[in-house]
Amino acid sequence: MVKVENLVKRYGSNYALNDVSFEIGEGEVVGLLGPNGAGKSTAMNILTGYLSSTSGAAYVNGINILDDPIEAKKYIGFLPEQPPVYPDMTVLEYLNFVYELKSVKLDREGHLGEILSVVKLTDVKDRLIRNLSKGYRQRVGIAQALVGDPKVIIFDEPTVGLDPKQILEVRNLIRNLGQRHTVILSTHILAEVQAVCERVIIINKGKIIADERTEDLTKTIEDGYHYEVRVSGPTGQVISALKKISGVKSVEPTGTKDGDAGIYVVETMGSTDVRRAIFNVCAQNNWPMIGLAPTGTDLESIFIRLVDRSDRKILGGRTR
Ligand code: ADP
Repeated sequence: MVKVENLVKRYGSNYALNDVSFEIGEGEVVGLLGPNGAGKSTAMNILTGYLSSTSGAAYVNGINILDDPIEAKKYIGFLPEQPPVYPDMTVLEYLNFVYELKSVKLDREGHLGEILSVVKLTDVKDRLIRNLSKGYRQRVGIAQALVGDPKVIIFDEPTVGLDPKQILEVRNLIRNLGQRHTVILSTHILAEVQAVCERVIIINKGKIIADERTEDLTKTIEDGYHYEVRVSGPTGQVISALKKISGVKSVEPTGTKDGDAGIYVVETMGSTDVRRAIFNVCAQNNWPMIGLAPTGTDLESIFIRLVDRSDRKILGGRTR
């Protein structure tokens, strides 16, 4: 349904995209994950026909977006990071406006009524957009992407700036849309991909560094878990006692303190859960433990591990 071949976008000597290729089948819900500056928006903007590429090609439903953007756009609904809503229109006036802009042929009343119901805006359809909360405005943005019933819907950072309840609502909505549409969700939030997408494409510095099922990525993340332990006790003895725990690979003092407690990072072998054993060892030695939490699950740490893993695959053919 969506195909990207050797896409390159260069700004001067800087590559925003550097030879990116992927293919997304009908009905897939795929997350495009990467830190700020990775190249996600550039990829989205090329896919939606807003930006040209330096080289390479992008297709939607077999149509080359760069050759025939008007035809290709009929198959795409796009929610940009800043939804293009008009504050002085009511929700329904705005959706009618988008309906005409996109020259949609579907039965107007039935189609817009269904969209309002899917995004739960029916009750506020006659309100001015300027008077809606940010969460509701985001739903109006999603509604405009659905006008014309496009096969592919692309969301760029759809939950930025929303409160936790609104975030859950928007994620649920996107997941449900995946039952009828091909969905691409661009985000820098790992948990968002884990909550919504079945597949994840990870992009860093303009290159794809992983393309796999979300559950496999989660395993990679959990493989070799790191815990941060805060414990009061003689540093040398703490390190040697924690190292003796079965399943512990390494113990590193961070050199920082929390009150009189030292802060250590414990790395495990595989996905062994060593938390109970750490607690027991500290208790037996009368070392007060004031903190124990997983660490290294932030995007930066995961990238380091993924890049490390792909380097190892290239060097020694070893996989986990
Ligand atoms: P993301 O959406 O993942 O945050 P972007 O696609 O916005 O990343 O940006 C990728 C890289 O391209 C960044 O290094 C950014 O600074 C650069 N870039 C994006 N747009 C332009 C532009 N118009 N001119 C120059 N550099 C740009």
